[in-house]
Amino acid sequence: MATPRIALIGIPYDEQSSFARGSSMAPALVRAAWHSRSSNMYSENGMLIDESAVWDAGDIVPVPGTDMLSSIEFRVRDILNQGLRPICVGGDHSVTYPIIKALSKQYHGLGILHIDAHPDLYDVYEGNRLSHACPFARIMEERLATRLVQVGIRTMNPHQREQAAQFKVEVIEMKNWDDRTKLVFSGPVYVSLDIDALDPAFAPGVSHREPGGFTTRQVIGIIQSLKGSLVGADIVEFNPPRDVPGMTDMVCAKMLKELSARMLSDKV
Ligand code: MN
Ligand code: MN
Repeated sequence: MATPRIALIGIPYDEQSSFARGSSMAPALVRAAWHSRSSNMYSENGMLIDESAVWDAGDIVPVPGTDMLSSIEFRVRDILNQGLRPICVGGDHSVTYPIIKALSKQYHGLGILHIDAHPDLYDVYEGNRLSHACPFARIMEERLATRLVQVGIRTMNPHQREQAAQFKVEVIEMKNWDDRTKLVFSGPVYVSLDIDALDPAFAPGVSHREPGGFTTRQVIGIIQSLKGSLVGADIVEFNPPRDVPGMTDMVCAKMLKELSARMLSDKV
């Protein structure tokens, strides 16, 4: 059996959600969908995405005496030290900040492709600077990434427009999206996939259903055509209690397979 080069990390955490809890339940359902006999374990380019390729590192449990967000940073650092590339599944979008804290120490010149209905650039949201509405403000003000490219965005307000300009975020709003767009990164790239980037018709199991989003096919196309070396990814904001059962979990599992295939194809 080949040695896995990717680690799947479950993040059962939704305490920074502003509207609806539930994304803590995502990891178990995405794992079940990944292993479901209703499909096979191959990516579209013919790679076998089973445990020989992706090691299931289990769910993150908080380190005693510390908070969950710090525990996420420690666990991702540990995975990187083992020479594995992390794909984190589950949780609200607040988890991306500690993940990127760990990755930024490993990879210089890290670029981020952020796929989301929302820019998540609030300086503070409802008094909380760690809210799932804020992670990319924290990442950019701490200069943890050299580039942030956002696609799928369809909820910009004046404050977040100001933040995007201040941090020089490259925002391609959903209304301006063109399927011929080539997303090109010169160095290591991290993909942060908020599943509400998809239209709720395709992925209803999210806390914030924002109509007018990507099709499943368009997001797969973005992952497959992205230029750059994929060094990590997350799939966040899947909220099972809001789902049509058996629907969004399969979308997440599909994205897990396609992201894994990209990582296995990319040299770092
Ligand atoms: Mn988000
Ligand atoms: Mn979102």
